[in-house]
Amino acid sequence: MKKQAVVIGAGLAGMSAAIRLAGDGYNVTMLEQNGNVGGKLNQRSGQGFTFDTGPSILTMPWVLEQLFTSVHRRLDDYLEIERIEPQWRTFFEDGTQLDVKGDLPGMLEEFKKVSDQADFVELFSYSKKMYDLCLDSFYKYSLEDLKDLKKYHTMSELLKMDPLNTVASGTKKHLNNKYLEQLFNYMVMYVGSNPYEAPAVFNQMIYVQMGLGIYYVKGGMYNIARAMKTVLDELRVTVHVNTPVERVVTEGKRAIGVEAKDGTFYPADVVVSNLEVIPTYERLVADKKGPKQAKKLNQSFVPSVSGLVLLLGVNREYKDLKHHNFFFSDDPEREFAQMFKEGVPPEDPTIYVGVSSKSDASQAPEGKDNLFVLTHVPPLTKQGGKTDWDAYREVVLDKLERMGVTDLREAIEFEYRFTPEDLQSLYGPNGGSIYGVAADRKKNGGFKIPSKSDLYEGLYFVGGSTHPGGGVPMVTLSGQLTADLIQKHENPVKA
Ligand SMILES: Cc1cc2nc3c(=O)[nH]c(=O)nc-3n(C[C@H](O)[C@H](O)[C@H](O)COP(=O)(O)OP(=O)(O)OC[C@H]3O[C@@H](n4cnc5c(N)ncnc54)[C@H](O)[C@@H]3O)c2cc1C
Repeated sequence: MKKQAVVIGAGLAGMSAAIRLAGDGYNVTMLEQNGNVGGKLNQRSGQGFTFDTGPSILTMPWVLEQLFTSVHRRLDDYLEIERIEPQWRTFFEDGTQLDVKGDLPGMLEEFKKVSDQADFVELFSYSKKMYDLCLDSFYKYSLEDLKDLKKYHTMSELLKMDPLNTVASGTKKHLNNKYLEQLFNYMVMYVGSNPYEAPAVFNQMIYVQMGLGIYYVKGGMYNIARAMKTVLDELRVTVHVNTPVERVVTEGKRAIGVEAKDGTFYPADVVVSNLEVIPTYERLVADKKGPKQAKKLNQSFVPSVSGLVLLLGVNREYKDLKHHNFFFSDDPEREFAQMFKEGVPPEDPTIYVGVSSKSDASQAPEGKDNLFVLTHVPPLTKQGGKTDWDAYREVVLDKLERMGVTDLREAIEFEYRFTPEDLQSLYGPNGGSIYGVAADRKKNGGFKIPSKSDLYEGLYFVGGSTHPGGGVPMVTLSGQLTADLIQKHENPVKA
């Protein structure tokens, strides 16, 4: 008889795990609290505008290809993925504007605007070496700690990961240029971490973006969730939406299933939680051990940043904007200190504006743009008091109007917003975190919470709080690597 797996949550990580487990021969049932699959990858429409409300930049599409191939399918048959160039348009407070490009000569030419000394080629090869090394370990196995990493690398390889530096000190030694450092340091926000605290190995994001490229999914990023759902249906995975899970049911030292809020018991040989690890222990493990474990984990694994999202449908096209735009803060050290140490929204934040209508006319009415405006703010646990989001909206709009998005307020004809409180109540992450737990050189060395529970056999985790971390490719990989882990522990091959 087939073994039974239950997956709590149909975010990208949960769906990726479910696809792999079904491919490995499990009977899989997914229970999702919301009315649709995809989790933070979601979509909203109104007045002719369509917005992806979560991820807008796709990196490392090979992770999606690998998932589809594992169940004998071609990603291209389900999705149309296209490369975006220029990758980012960046705006600095002093009026400097730089386009980040995927072609090296074009990029070097662009950087001459701010520096003729920066050793960008050297930085690029440092970043690529780290990425290549990670392909043999970090992206291949569900790692827990340095001991695990050491199994796959020699000492000299580990040294190439620049262990004594943070992201920011790593870029400084190669660039020593305030514009370029700020720009490249910001790439660690793909995993929601502080460049002044995250280990330098995350400088591989430079190669991930510029070497491998950034991508968009035609029709909207939400088509990734639709494609995964189609594969789940083909593999006969049962997906129940509008079915919140109330608790993980345990017997002795083993998880034996879950109970939904409506009282239905779903028995399982394996339970996989796509809700972050800490909230799973806090809310879904009913005995005292769960909250105690959550408290212990909280000391090393603080939530990554949250965000204020404004979806703005505007009655004109902003010709100076590209598909991806970053309006940088004037003082990044202060910005990150406010976010990660003081726990307050930065008074001068970096603002991301995604305009998918620049690449895809289906996303806005003709002659109009769909502006997805994301400003990173601390997770709720850090903030103590409540933030006045109406007032913070004004800070965001003031900055955009000042830096070139002229008359923005007058141009808005559709508006919707998500606050950290909304993200927390919609998807359940710790403090409304966007990317799981923050990578911190001192607190966790950049490692995440182990995907196999220390408390209960048969209980596993996927998503941004587990290895390899947050963001679309990482969480999709976490589903696959956790499925490998389940295969190893639950179905050991006899010698
Ligand atoms: C505004 C924003 C912008 C982003 N931009 C990017 C980007 O440009 N590029 C990028 O790569 N990443 C980006 N991300 C990050 C990316 O979206 C996430 O890392 C990823 O989608 C998280 O997937 P997940 O499966 O780990 O978690 P989630 O998507 O949070 O999925 C968890 C699922 O579990 C469900 N659930 C929780 N509790 C229960 C329960 N008790 N019972 C049943 N179901 C439950 C939730 O409803 C949810 O569907 C962004 C995220 C946000 C919010």
